Amino acid sequence: MSVTLDPRTRALHDRALVWDAHCDTLQRLVVDDVDLGLPSQAQADLPAWHAGGVDVQVFAVWVDTIYGSDHATRRAFEQIAAFYKFLSAYPDQVGLATTAAEVRRVVGQGKLAAVLAIEGGLAIQNDLGVLRSFARLGATSMTLTHSASLDWVDSSTDAPRSHGLSAFGREVIAEMNRLRMIVDLSHVSDPVIEQVVELSTAPVIASHSSAKSICAHPRNLTDRLARAIADTGGVVGVNFVNEIIDQAYYDQLGKHGSVLAMLNQPTRIPPDQLDRAAAERLRGWFQDDVARPPFERVLEHVEHLVRVAGIDHVGIGADMDACRIPLPAGFDSVRDFPMITDGLSRRGMSDDAVEKVMGGNFLRVFGEVRGG
Ligand SMILES: [Zn+2]
Repeated sequence: MSVTLDPRTRALHDRALVWDAHCDTLQRLVVDDVDLGLPSQAQADLPAWHAGGVDVQVFAVWVDTIYGSDHATRRAFEQIAAFYKFLSAYPDQVGLATTAAEVRRVVGQGKLAAVLAIEGGLAIQNDLGVLRSFARLGATSMTLTHSASLDWVDSSTDAPRSHGLSAFGREVIAEMNRLRMIVDLSHVSDPVIEQVVELSTAPVIASHSSAKSICAHPRNLTDRLARAIADTGGVVGVNFVNEIIDQAYYDQLGKHGSVLAMLNQPTRIPPDQLDRAAAERLRGWFQDDVARPPFERVLEHVEHLVRVAGIDHVGIGADMDACRIPLPAGFDSVRDFPMITDGLSRRGMSDDAVEKVMGGNFLRVFGEVRGG
């Protein structure tokens, strides 16, 4: 669906810097070698970003748990290579941004600002040298875990191993602060969030997390932890994925139907079969026939987080192209981003507040941590 906005809301959406803090579109590049310049049935591509008025897209380098701590770095580097191949194919439509100044410059040229992020500390294979390499290659942030706990940091969707962060985990936070990489707390366990907000010397974010008081998914944020992230000066980006925003939807999937639970099922795959297996997992999973929740649910998360964390600390991390995971009714792709501006305005949010949520807040944190 695409929305027809009234002229005032259209002007607001066009004026706002629209920042989506998380997508998994790089998976489609490494698995299917898609051309993002062409319109597709997927949730993001260049024509769709343009139609949706999205100015900044954060691209996650996510590595499936099956790669384990021996092959994850290789898989991450392949995605970074695919990211740069995409940028060089469309220099007139998209540009790299690693600082707030670069975001403003690229967006000012009428292009999509592409921001590189690592999703899951598995990718560093317990090696700070690899973390530094990712930073040198333009990665601006890292979520510490994905679905599974690591040797040094616990995930919200797996058994704990370190009661939060291990000693090495604390070194990772210090090194990320030194490298000016933003620490991203989506997916980690509650004790990790509590420890990182104390340790980090820079604002931290949860790029794609929603409110636990609306949907009790383990990877959502309690009001207290959302406030703790805000207290660092950071931002929470609201996730749009059905099982993360809607309690009834999550309940119907059941504990084992959750995508993150499926990712954690133990699997042994020979190294030379990993890419094929990862492609099959991405293509074959994550279909369900549970009814889509209303789009209003997303807006409820935004409003709730604004109430508990403050208007300067909420943004959007829609999680598009996460393995074709179903989205709320009427919201099918980044083309539908104007629905967010429209919905928040209709529910009475001021224009200034809408601009902050749509991207102003993420730009501020990016500037504080990355410079520019
Ligand atoms: Zn994620």
